[in-house]
Amino acid sequence: MTGAPSRDAGPELLRLVDVRQSYRTGPAVVEVLRGVNLVLRRGDLAAIMGPSGSGKSTFMNILGLLHPPSEGKYILKGREIAALEDDELAALRNATIGFVFQSFHLLPRLSAWQNVGLPLVYRGVARNEIEQRARAVLEQVGLEARAEHRPDELSGGQRQRVAIARALVGEPEILLADEPTGALDDETGAAIMQLLKDLHAGRGMTAIVITHDYEIAAQCPRRLLIRQGRLDEQPAGGEAGGMA
Ligand code: ADP
Ligand code: MG
Repeated sequence: MTGAPSRDAGPELLRLVDVRQSYRTGPAVVEVLRGVNLVLRRGDLAAIMGPSGSGKSTFMNILGLLHPPSEGKYILKGREIAALEDDELAALRNATIGFVFQSFHLLPRLSAWQNVGLPLVYRGVARNEIEQRARAVLEQVGLEARAEHRPDELSGGQRQRVAIARALVGEPEILLADEPTGALDDETGAAIMQLLKDLHAGRGMTAIVITHDYEIAAQCPRRLLIRQGRLDEQPAGGEAGGMA
C-alpha cells in the first residue's frame, strides 16, 4: 500500500526509499524510522498520524530537507538529495518547501505583513515588492485587515494564518505542517484545516499535515500512519480505526 498514488494522481514530486533515522543518546541507539517508503504526487493532500514520539516530526524534518536521513534515498523533484551540496540543498528547500509549525514562530516585534514578508527579505526581494506580495498573501488567508497588527494583537487562529501566509509567500510546491492545529481550540483548528483544504482544492497545493485529530485526518484524501518506525498508508474512505 505505501506509496500507492492517490485518486487524482499528478506527477511524482518526491520519493522516499527505505529511509531510516536513528539517534544515539549516550550508549543507546534509538531507531526512530526503520525503513520508510513514500511517493508523493503533485496535488496530494496527506495527513500523518501516529502516537507521540513515533517520529512524525523527524519524518517531516527529513521531508523538509532540515536534516538528511541516516540511511535511504530521498528524491525530491528528480534530484537525489544526498548528492547535493549544502548550498544546493538550501536553494532547493527555499524554492520548494513551506513550513508551518504548531507554535507559529512569528517574530513579536514585526507586524503581520512584515512577518509574512521575511522569507522574501532573505531572498533579497525589493522592499516594495515584499510588502505588496505579503499583503496579497494575507488577503488569501483572510487577514488583510490585520496586516499592521503585531502577533500579540492577534488570536491564535489569526497567528496561524499569518504563519501559513509566511509559508506561502515564496510560492512553495509543498506545504509541510507539523501539528498546525495543535495549539488551537477545535473550532479554530477546523477553520485552519479548512484553509489548508481550500489551498489544496483551489490551487492544487501539495500538502502534508501532521495531526492528532482523527476528524482532520479523515478529511484528507491520503492518510499515513507512523508506528513503530514504519509508515503505512491507510485505505481511502475507511474508518481511521486502530490509529491510536
Ligand atoms: P513525534 O513528532 O511523533 O512526537 P519526534 O519525531 O519528535 O516524534 O521524535 C521521535 C523520537 O526521536 C523521540 O523518541 C525523540 O525523543 C527522538 N528524537 C527526535 N529528535 C532527536 C534528536 N535530535 N536527538 C535524539 N533523539 C531525538
Ligand atoms: Mg512532533
